[in-house]
Amino acid sequence: MGSPVQEIFQGRGGKKRQSFWLKRVLPLILLVLTFFFLFFKFALIGRNVWFILCIATISVYSLLHRVKKDKTYSIEFLFSLALLIEGIIQAFTLHWLRVAYFPFIVSLSAFYEVKTVIILVLLIPFFEINNFLNREKLFEEIAFLISLVATASISSLVITALKKKKNIVETSFKTIRDKAQNIDSETEIESFSDEEIISHYLASVLKSDEEIKELLLVVKNAVFADSVYFFMSEGDGLRLRCSTDESGNIIPSTGGIISLCMKDKKPLVVSDIIEKKLEVGYLKKEKISSLIAVPVLDGNFPLGVLTADSTRFHAFNDADNTTIQMFSKQLLRILQRERISPLIHRSHASLKILLEESSTLLSSLNIDLIAHRLTEGAYRLAPSAVVFFITKGKEFEMVHQIGLPSPGEKLFSVKGTSLDMVVKNKEPLYLSDVRKYRFPVMPFKTDNIGSIFALPLLYENELIGILAILSEKKNAFNSHQISLLKVLGNQASTSIANARFHEEIERLAITDGLTGLFNYRHFQERLLQEFSRFDRFSEPLSLLIIDIDYFKKINDTYGHQVGDTVLKGVADIIKTTIRNIDIPARYGGEEFAVILIGTDANGARNMAERLRQAVMSTSFSAGGNTFKVTISIGISTFPCHDVTSKEKLIENADQAMYCAKREGRNRSILWDGVKG
Ligand code: GH3
Ligand code: MG
Ligand code: MG
Repeated sequence: MGSPVQEIFQGRGGKKRQSFWLKRVLPLILLVLTFFFLFFKFALIGRNVWFILCIATISVYSLLHRVKKDKTYSIEFLFSLALLIEGIIQAFTLHWLRVAYFPFIVSLSAFYEVKTVIILVLLIPFFEINNFLNREKLFEEIAFLISLVATASISSLVITALKKKKNIVETSFKTIRDKAQNIDSETEIESFSDEEIISHYLASVLKSDEEIKELLLVVKNAVFADSVYFFMSEGDGLRLRCSTDESGNIIPSTGGIISLCMKDKKPLVVSDIIEKKLEVGYLKKEKISSLIAVPVLDGNFPLGVLTADSTRFHAFNDADNTTIQMFSKQLLRILQRERISPLIHRSHASLKILLEESSTLLSSLNIDLIAHRLTEGAYRLAPSAVVFFITKGKEFEMVHQIGLPSPGEKLFSVKGTSLDMVVKNKEPLYLSDVRKYRFPVMPFKTDNIGSIFALPLLYENELIGILAILSEKKNAFNSHQISLLKVLGNQASTSIANARFHEEIERLAITDGLTGLFNYRHFQERLLQEFSRFDRFSEPLSLLIIDIDYFKKINDTYGHQVGDTVLKGVADIIKTTIRNIDIPARYGGEEFAVILIGTDANGARNMAERLRQAVMSTSFSAGGNTFKVTISIGISTFPCHDVTSKEKLIENADQAMYCAKREGRNRSILWDGVKG
């Protein structure tokens, strides 16, 4: 934008042009007229007209000046004001009124930049060009001008310095506020997963003492107090937490203004402590004349009192009171942050437990071990009684428990108990006050249970177990603990499912697909194990090798499938006839082997006979016909004079079996070294 004159000639266009004339040209014409009328002493002759003109100019420019917030019209506005002063001086010949320029200039320097003020000061001599031309008054005028410029410069400098100081206070306040806000926003965005972030956060929380002190110093500067203290509520009284005095040298006393402030939860400003002989609540070396005490309130709960004192009377006003109240809110934020730090510590600790326990859960494929770790992990997260049940058909087996007297039995039905709800809904159940309900909490007798959290362990929506955490207290578990327990339970479900899957794979690897007996490889391993056990336990061991007689014929007569059915049938007879500890295996095509643990020759012979008779008396059917099969059994036993290895034991049983075949089948024969 050029000068107003340039703009007058360049101004074109409808609306724009109108507004340009209104805002630029007309006011300028008014100003120029006012100036020249004054210059040519018109203020003396047509006094009233000139004053109307001058007031109109001032009004127009003050309006423009106020509308335009960027102070575009400031010089014109101020110049018109100066014209008014000059007009009054000349019209009423009040030469002494020129001193009015000084307060005028000083007050301007409070609101305008140095540049604007100086320009104005330099314009003032133009009012009295006549005086300058008049040699007699030249020195007087120059002296006046110099003192005016000096006043303008000094007052501008002083005011700038004061503004700077105010800025410092504001900036430090802003820094504190920003710091507090930053830390608060950190809480919102950062997750607890990163240990480094957590420790960084904790470190910043621990700095709150330093932060409070910094804040007190800002308060001290802001309200020009001698000292600022922060007293924290402790029990029934107040304890000095922080102060701006390095020495912190005060003697706390009971009661006083600060206690009253805490009790009434209202700020107090007292300016006549000495006259009224009031108690402050603490004593200092210097006599306290004025005091502001502001409570630090968390909602309606007082956390402490922030005080500022001074030896001056009436040292504080309402504005100071407002300032301190503002700072007390800032202080509250620091204290709130400090208060949540133990919570963060705790959640950090429990998350660490969760991490440790989860990884041990994952590392195990043993269901029993998983159950132990789950129970112990749950106990670490929520220290109370913990019970873990594993689903066994329609019942539940208590695998592990902590903190309860042993109920004796292990297998339970949960019907009618609180756990029944977990089974039915497959949802976690938290009863914060179980005494309200009539049903039993556990499937066994428990004393004095206040609350229970029961978590179903699900895998692919199948209930694989229940974890129950019990406490004597009501409302014993918080939401944080519950979510952590859920995560732990989830982890355990996956681990148990994994372990089961692994078990199944292992089982398949050692089982014969057709008969469900152990396979040849596993038989060899187990025989070796049992054979070497003898060294430690000296228990006898026997082996049966069983071969179905004329099996080829069955295949040939009824087909291969019927042959398979017969194989399964014989295998089932073996399974049901032998004891649990014995080891049955499919040795080959239609041959089976049974390791009889802790069994001597006599016992083995009895077992072989029982087996032979059981098979002999079982009927099979195929294509409307029924038929029977027989088996031949070779028996060997250990210890025996010629048996030194498992191979020899097998060979002996084999030999005995062939002997049985030779002797007419459907019989059992014990290997007898002498017979060969
Ligand atoms: P012996 O009384 O001398 O033992 O006569 P055998 O017919 O039982 O003897 P052999 O060893 O000659 O015949 C065994 C037959 O068993 C041969 C084979 O086809 C059959 N076999 C082997 N494994 C299976 C199987 O898994 N299923 C069926 N259906 N048959 C099988
Ligand atoms: Mg055979
Ligand atoms: Mg055979």
